[in-house]
Amino acid sequence: ATHFLGRIQAAPQWGAFVALNEEATLAQARAADERLSRGEALALDGVPIAHKDIFVTKNFASTAGSKMLDGYRSPFDATVVTRLADAGAVTLGKLNCDEFAMGSANENSAVAPLGFDAPAPVRNPWASDRVPGGSSGGSAAAVAARLAPAATGTDTGGSIRQPASFCGITGIKPTYGRASRYGMVAFASSLDQAGPMARSAEDCALLLSAMCGPDPDRDSTSLDLPAENFARGLNDSIDGLRIGIPAEFFGDGLAPDVRAAVDAALKEYEKLGAKLVPIALPRTELSIPVYYIIAPAEASSNLSRFDGVKFGHRAKDYGDLTDMYKKTRAEGFGDEVKRRIMIGAYVLSHGYYDAYYLQAQKIRRMIADDFQQAFKSCDVIAGPVAPTVAWKLGEKSADPVANYLADIFTLPGSLAGLPGMSLPAGFGEGGLPVGLQLIGNYFSEAKLLNAAHRFQ
Ligand code: GLN
Repeated sequence: ATHFLGRIQAAPQWGAFVALNEEATLAQARAADERLSRGEALALDGVPIAHKDIFVTKNFASTAGSKMLDGYRSPFDATVVTRLADAGAVTLGKLNCDEFAMGSANENSAVAPLGFDAPAPVRNPWASDRVPGGSSGGSAAAVAARLAPAATGTDTGGSIRQPASFCGITGIKPTYGRASRYGMVAFASSLDQAGPMARSAEDCALLLSAMCGPDPDRDSTSLDLPAENFARGLNDSIDGLRIGIPAEFFGDGLAPDVRAAVDAALKEYEKLGAKLVPIALPRTELSIPVYYIIAPAEASSNLSRFDGVKFGHRAKDYGDLTDMYKKTRAEGFGDEVKRRIMIGAYVLSHGYYDAYYLQAQKIRRMIADDFQQAFKSCDVIAGPVAPTVAWKLGEKSADPVANYLADIFTLPGSLAGLPGMSLPAGFGEGGLPVGLQLIGNYFSEAKLLNAAHRFQ
């Protein structure tokens, strides 16, 4: 832990960390050392980990990347944080992210990273003029810059997989419901999932095993499945594994350099004995409008709690209660968050609900059905994570739709609630990392991690 705290302080330029608490970190590390010396080591004893600042923590400020939670201190830890700590992991600090996890480039954070006086973008350690991806951009950059061996992330529409891809690391989003959402600041509750981001599939498997498990009293959507050891089959042979290749993931929108790296990775899989099977995910393109209706709809409802009364920011000068709400929310939320609240309120409103929200829900179901059809002929699905390598800082920041379109390959799996991961496939333009996405059927995390581990 001391080693990583030193590295974090020596390398603030990535903008990855937003909070440290050395005393708390060292206390956890000492407790782990004592257990180790007594021969009572826990599964992750002494393993340093940093948390995306969307998980609330008692010992560190929790901002969710928003001015709205400026000065907020949570009285409790998120379940994922508790579970990792109970397995012996040592929390290094909190990581920058897009405000309320809304974004694909980590350019939407309203929080000043450590070493900065004002909000600053997280930078990609592979090329400091490039974005790290988002919304778990701080997590991916921290692991890639070796400021932490592992980090937590959350994935609503790709926020673990895409930054992992852009920063050349490994990340997995489990089946919806595997990890408790308790204490994860809610964005779109029917999509949000936590997962680990680390250097290898093996590390991810160990972390995921600690993170997942039922939490019936605190998250009603957490699955009633016993904790699993996702590392159990890492070395199993993948001879005969049927890898579905969706034609829709390899169309015109895919940059040639990304395609070349993904194709090369798939050739490696064939050498390992896997068989490539063409499949169809015909509603891939529809996943963008569907997601950008459903996620903002849920966000507009979830974010109504930030009203200046219960926690976080409150405007200074105001008239009546309504005026206080208005001023607080106008000051506290950034542009992207406001945009989503407006879209969400619109698609849920009387007269538009049937045309937009209900329609989106129906197509969401069809997208999930398409996957079930595809899994009749394959064991896992493979393709790119994103259409391009990491783009330049600022390149898309003025164009929300350009950001949304870049989510095309991660959104279908999210809408279906399926597990998905990104593993380093190779390099594209400018020597920038390219991730390979593996999507599995429900509860097939062990199989995905096995396939990724054999490749690594
Ligand atoms: N880029 C997507 C969005 O902006 C996904 C974010 C996420 O998974 N948290 O909503």
